[in-house]
Amino acid sequence: MLDGYGRKIDYLRISVTDRCNLRCMYCMPEKGIDLIPHEEILSFEEIFRVVKSASQLGINKIRITGGEPLVRVGLPKLIKSIKSLPGIREVSMTTNGALLEKHMDELDKAGLNRVNISLDTLNKEKYLRVTRLGDLNKVLRGIKLAIEKGLTPVKLNVVVTKEINFSEIMDFVKLGEELPLDIRFIELMPIGEGRKFTHVSNEEIKTAIRKHRELIPCSEVKGSGPAKYFKTPFSQGSIGFISPMSHEFCGTCNRVRLTSEGFLKLCLHWKTGINLKEFLRSGVKDKELTEIISEAIKGKPDKHGFISRKVSDGRIMSQIGG
Ligand code: SAM
Ligand code: SF4
Repeated sequence: MLDGYGRKIDYLRISVTDRCNLRCMYCMPEKGIDLIPHEEILSFEEIFRVVKSASQLGINKIRITGGEPLVRVGLPKLIKSIKSLPGIREVSMTTNGALLEKHMDELDKAGLNRVNISLDTLNKEKYLRVTRLGDLNKVLRGIKLAIEKGLTPVKLNVVVTKEINFSEIMDFVKLGEELPLDIRFIELMPIGEGRKFTHVSNEEIKTAIRKHRELIPCSEVKGSGPAKYFKTPFSQGSIGFISPMSHEFCGTCNRVRLTSEGFLKLCLHWKTGINLKEFLRSGVKDKELTEIISEAIKGKPDKHGFISRKVSDGRIMSQIGG
């Protein structure tokens, strides 16, 4: 369907939990966050109803995220049910990769199409420091397994900060030359703990890469998202740049988000949206739910306000899911 600004909205990102098994320094405070009580989190049946209604409006692409989606017990069951909906053509997941190896077979059998794996350093000690809990080797094994299982293209999400990983840009580029991966550099957004770190613009990252490699723009259009893709002469996959800060991409935004407590969030930045859980838990019929979602989407804001630093949602990234 089209929103109030004529943008085609066909993509829903679903945060299935606010819980996470890591504490990435720019995303979550060390002590964690106040967790949403279990009974306030949407059940799989409730999520399924939202997706079914949204699919009637032309939503055909679903991304499962968190918190960390793989800490939610029984996730493959949800993926399988969403995949059974006739209007849904792709279900993908964004994960930190720590539990991928453990759940890979079930995810594959459930019909998961693709994974994006978040990884900000290739140094084992630094990984533990930055995630405060993680084991890099588990993530690397998960990445290789995802490639083997054909959950491709496997994309790595690398959020770049001056403090953590600006010095490792070429290590990631080289990883994309060794393995068939799309390496995507993402500009840090000033949300929650992210405000404590120094953002690096994608132009700075490109300059750093060009000291060692030619960057060739990819001619084929890849995906429907905000990334701009390039290759080095040796890349097996591609190198993507997602620039929410330096190149606002709101004019082509195609997505809305469902938080784990059932709020349909219309923009990553603003509070604007609607509490679908209230309707789901008071006997709303499917047709009515579809109308409620349709009306809400018409009110999607025209653009985010990260650059002007206007007051935002109050939710942190682990509660939104990226
Ligand atoms: N736990 C999963 C993961 O890490 O992939 C899914 C949720 S996580 C919040 C989704 C993405 O948001 C990750 O790639 C993470 O690096 C990114 N992220 C977290 N805080 C961010 C920030 N302030 N700016 C940009 N990206 C951020
Ligand atoms: Fe957890 Fe993902 Fe946030 Fe890291 S980025 S703390 S893995 S939600």
